[in-house]
Amino acid sequence: MARIVMKFGGTSVADLDRIRNVARHVKREVDAGHEVAVVVSAMSGKTNELVGWVQNMPKVAGADHSIYDAREYDAVVASGEQVTSGLLAIALQAMGVNARSWQGWQIPIRTDNAHGAARILDIDGEDMVRRMKDGQVAVVAGFQGLGPDNRIATLGRGGSDTSAVAIAAAVKADRCDIYTDVDGVYTTDPRIEPKARRLKKIAFEEMLEMASLGAKVLQVRSVELAMVFKVRTFVRSSFEDPDAPGMGDLLNPPGTLICDEDEIVEQEVVTGIAYAKDEAQISLRRLADRPGVSAAIFGPLAENHINVDMIVQNISEDGSKTDMTFTVPSGDAEKALRVLGENKEKIGYDVVQSESGLVKVSVIGIGMRSHAGVAATAFRALAEKGINIKAITTSEIKISILIDGPYAELAVRTLHSCYGLDKS
Ligand code: ADP
Ligand code: ASP
Ligand code: MG
Repeated sequence: MARIVMKFGGTSVADLDRIRNVARHVKREVDAGHEVAVVVSAMSGKTNELVGWVQNMPKVAGADHSIYDAREYDAVVASGEQVTSGLLAIALQAMGVNARSWQGWQIPIRTDNAHGAARILDIDGEDMVRRMKDGQVAVVAGFQGLGPDNRIATLGRGGSDTSAVAIAAAVKADRCDIYTDVDGVYTTDPRIEPKARRLKKIAFEEMLEMASLGAKVLQVRSVELAMVFKVRTFVRSSFEDPDAPGMGDLLNPPGTLICDEDEIVEQEVVTGIAYAKDEAQISLRRLADRPGVSAAIFGPLAENHINVDMIVQNISEDGSKTDMTFTVPSGDAEKALRVLGENKEKIGYDVVQSESGLVKVSVIGIGMRSHAGVAATAFRALAEKGINIKAITTSEIKISILIDGPYAELAVRTLHSCYGLDKS
C-alpha cells in the first residue's frame, strides 16, 4: 500500500464528463488499496474569466483606474478550485468512494501574504492524514491557501502544481502524479513541434530550467519543492483510459519521472528546448560609465517589482560612455519606462529605446557542463534560417537567445532538430 497525491489540471476537469473520468483514475488507485489525496485546478478557462472580472470591476464601478485590492482578487480567483473540488468529491461518492473536499483554509495550507503570488509556508495535514488513513479520499482545492492576515491567498498562475507537490511533501507521499493534457514532459512543447519526443526521465535541475524558461507543463515553484523535499513526481496524462494496462503500476507508471540526475543513465548533451513569449527589450544609450550606474538603473526597477531578465552591457571604446540593454516581461515594459523616466537624472542616460513582442528561446541540458560547442551549434543553425539574435545569456546548463516574435516557432523547431532531439 502506498500514499499517492494525484493532481488534475484545468483541461482534465474542464466539464462534468472529464471530472467523471478523473474520478475513475482516483477510484483505480483507491481500489488498489492506496491512500489518496487529490488536488484539482479550476475548469480550464475559468481562472482567466475570473481574473478578467476582477480587472474590469473598478472601471465598471466608475473608477478612472483598474487598481484593485489584491486580497479581493484572491477571494474571487480562488473560487474556481472550490467548484471542481466539490464536484469531484460528489463524483467519487457516486462511484461508492468515500471522499470529501478540502479548501486551502480548512487544512490549513499556510502561506505568506504576497496575495496573488503567495508562497506556501506550512501545511498542517494532520486531520487530513487521519481521515486518509481511515480510507477517505481528500479532494483538495489547488492554487489556494490561508495568509497570515487570515485571508485566502493564491499561489500564482499554474499554482495547483505547487499545491500538489507541497501536500505530497507534507503527508510524506510515496509519489505525486501531475495529470495533464499531455502524457509527459517532452523535448519541447509538443504543440509547437509535433516531432518532440516524450522523456522517460528528466533531472530536477533541467525541469527547473525548462519551467523557468517558459515550459508551462509544471509551475517553477513545484519543481523547486520536489527537488528540495525529494518528492517522486511524475507528469502523466488524464486522457488515457484509467483502466488501461500499466496505468496502476506503482513503480513505473506511464509518463515522465522528475528525478535526481544520477538516476538518469543515458544523459544527452541537450535535453530540451523551451520558449517564453512576450519579452520586451529596453536599451539605455550613452550612459556615463561609472561605478554605481547599474545600481541606479536596476535598484528602482526592483523596488517597483519589475523582473529584469537578460542584461547586456556594451563596453565603450573610450571608457566614458556605455549602453545598457535588458529585458522585462512585455506587460511590465510601460511601467519600467516610467520608472526609468522618473530616474533619468540619477541614472544619467541620453536616450531610452524599447521593443516589445520578443521571444526568448532556450536550450537546456546538464550534459552541457562537460561539452563544448553547444552554443555555437545553436548560433549556426539560427543563422542558416536567417534568424537574427538580439541578446544571449548562458549558464552552466542553459543558453537563452532573444529573437523577434514572429520567428519563435521556426527557432524552436530549428534548435530542436539541430541537436537531433527529433530522432529517437
Ligand atoms: P494543466 O492545465 O494540466 O496544468 P498546462 O496547460 O498548465 O496544463 O500544462 C500542459 C501544457 O504544457 C501542454 O498542453 C503543453 O502544450 C505545454 N508544454 C510546454 N512545454 C512542454 C513540454 N516540454 N512538455 C510537455 N508539455 C509542454
Ligand atoms: N487555476 C489556476 C490557474 O489557471 C491554477 C492552476 O490551474 O494550476 O492558474
Ligand atoms: Mg498548469
